[in-house]
Amino acid sequence: MKNILELSKAELEKEMTGMSAKKFNASQIMEWIYIKHAGSFDVMSNLPLSLRELLNKYFVMEKPRVEQKLVSASKDTIKYLLKCSDGILVESVLMKHIDRHTICLSSQAGCAYGCAMCATGSMGFKRNLSAAEITGQVFAALPDMDSGEYSGKFNVVFMGMGEPLANYDNFKKAAGVLTEKKAFGISARRITVSTCGVVPGIENMIRDGLRFNLSVSLHAVNDRVRDMLVPVNKKYRLEKLFTACAKYFAFNPDPVTFEYVMIKSVNDREDDLKELIYIISDLKIDCKVNLIPYNRVNIKEFSASSQKTIDLWRETLEKEGVICSVRREMGADINAACGQLAGGMV
Ligand code: SAH
Ligand code: SF4
Repeated sequence: MKNILELSKAELEKEMTGMSAKKFNASQIMEWIYIKHAGSFDVMSNLPLSLRELLNKYFVMEKPRVEQKLVSASKDTIKYLLKCSDGILVESVLMKHIDRHTICLSSQAGCAYGCAMCATGSMGFKRNLSAAEITGQVFAALPDMDSGEYSGKFNVVFMGMGEPLANYDNFKKAAGVLTEKKAFGISARRITVSTCGVVPGIENMIRDGLRFNLSVSLHAVNDRVRDMLVPVNKKYRLEKLFTACAKYFAFNPDPVTFEYVMIKSVNDREDDLKELIYIISDLKIDCKVNLIPYNRVNIKEFSASSQKTIDLWRETLEKEGVICSVRREMGADINAACGQLAGGMV
């Protein structure tokens, strides 16, 4: 049976016509699902009873169930542990900022890429999430969004468990539902895709016309260090990755963000900083650097760069005209910060 949560408006309209129902029934159903948050077809009272019966016969409306909710001491971060129908667990995080909400979505259970500093990587790959399991994470967070001016407005970052571009088709379908006017209706500019450097995925986004914010987990400025931290680098070398970034920028001229986890004596030396500045000027595209303080996870003997080093990097990059931010870590006390998501296993 098809999961109705995976269908675009056009697809649902086609299904309606196929069932001899009316095309506009598709909009009504989507309003029930995405505006009134209906949990079953039976409550869709403005649909003919016969159509509700058909919907029950041919579709399911299945979302992952919230198993556990953890709220950070500061109350601004909520981590959700969600259980899919086969029992697999995934995590997502809602971050409340002063003027917006951000939902950090997982795209896979576990991850196959095994980055040296990442808890998700250390648990290995379980499976891809379906599009409904991805958008289901948004449904879980909606009730916890503050009401008022910013209610219902949220940004999405694909920075949870897994590599979105390695689950490309489901990621694309989920993003389609997020941007669909009759579904969540958020603008593509509110969506950020973070990738460890899956070059064909970046090329697919160009081919498919997906103009999202591109964030690249760079973490090292030469292939030797990057091979160790982000092993996918052995397949897609830095040069190829930068070429793909430049192509993406030519297609979508919003700045590309380079994420850089600051790990003491591994990637935070003065020479690394010089090389980063050189690479950026050589690239000739608009980009930003987002420095991420290393979060401790139960693996490897890495430690975080000192605050002094992080400040020096930020100041130097800014002096060189590079837009640079230091990620404010949210939810470290509930293991909800970058690299800490491991399906309730850490
Ligand atoms: N797979 C994608 C999406 C995950 S985003 C990607 O790798 O980009 C999660 C971000 O947190 C990535 O930039 C990742 O490299 C970073 N990260 C991993 N482990 C971390 C840690 N221990 N501390 C801080 N950031 C970490
Ligand atoms: Fe996977 Fe991203 Fe973690 Fe690397 S950093 S293991 S790609 S989730």
